[in-house]
Amino acid sequence: MKGVVVKSTGSWYLVRDAEGKMHRARLRGKFKQKDSKVSNPLAVGDRVEFDVEQTGEDTAIIHKIEDRENYIIRQSTHKTAYSHIIASNLDQAMLIVTLVSPRTSFGFIDRFLVTAEAYDIPATLVFNKTDLYDEDIRDYQRQISHMYEQVGYQSLSVSAKDNEGIEEMQALLQGKTTLLSGHSGVGKSTLINIIVPDLELKTSEISDFSDKGVHTTTYAEMFEVSDDTYIIDTPGIKELGIVDIPAAELSHFFPEMRERMNQCRFNNCTHFNEPGCAVVEAVRQNEISLTRYESYLSMMHGGDNRR
Ligand code: GDP
Ligand code: ZN
Repeated sequence: MKGVVVKSTGSWYLVRDAEGKMHRARLRGKFKQKDSKVSNPLAVGDRVEFDVEQTGEDTAIIHKIEDRENYIIRQSTHKTAYSHIIASNLDQAMLIVTLVSPRTSFGFIDRFLVTAEAYDIPATLVFNKTDLYDEDIRDYQRQISHMYEQVGYQSLSVSAKDNEGIEEMQALLQGKTTLLSGHSGVGKSTLINIIVPDLELKTSEISDFSDKGVHTTTYAEMFEVSDDTYIIDTPGIKELGIVDIPAAELSHFFPEMRERMNQCRFNNCTHFNEPGCAVVEAVRQNEISLTRYESYLSMMHGGDNRR
């Protein structure tokens, strides 16, 4: 049988087959870690083949993992420790952000976008809690959206509370597998509750399996929105870890820098203090936003940039 991993704890998995039926599954013993730097052989989103064997509780045995189209890794903060594949086979990533209550920092947004660029996954920003905006913040939000749209990122304003913009968000999700991310308090759970039908039922179905496992809270899980439309939630994952990007390559993941850097005088320009830098010139001319450039500098210098 063929299926998709919708939950993974590292020792057992939950796999949804083509008919939508869930199977508690294990990985056949012969699977050894191909990439020794990664802690989990199987991640949410992986497409697998499995056999159903009526041997006690664990009925499904996964014997084949299809090649991943893409995946996102969370890198361990300890250099020596293993990285963890958060999810695979994603069509896009959406970051839920808020300008008020709480305010998402640009540093956080830009690190997310760089991560998405690094994995070549299209990214969209969703501004939630627009019901809390006054006229000034509404203006400000338009400027911010414009700034990101100029660079090539779609954005959307919604209010989970007032049910505003939800249809637009559903339209963006339609037919795709979307990773939803956001720091805590932005309303990600509220939005998922609105978007995923029968979420409580699905969650309890999943936790029926989870209860037999251990510590499942920081693992991603996939929910069906409708046929061919899936959301991958990443509870407990505060931030997608970006891969270690060498300073000289970081600007490749800022589209507005990428398109200008071949005009820099030095081909190894880091766009910091080199003479004849086309990126710095574009910042001076307001063609590249200072905010984005500051995020770039902060990331390049290893800063945390939690403004
Ligand atoms: P999460 O941590 O991102 O999952 O955030 P939650 O979904 O738990 O929401 C955090 C808080 O924000 C809760 O008190 C929600 O009721 C509130 N909230 C979520 N969406 C909205 C919204 O659109 N407008 C307002 N005013 N509050 C919201
Ligand atoms: Zn330069």
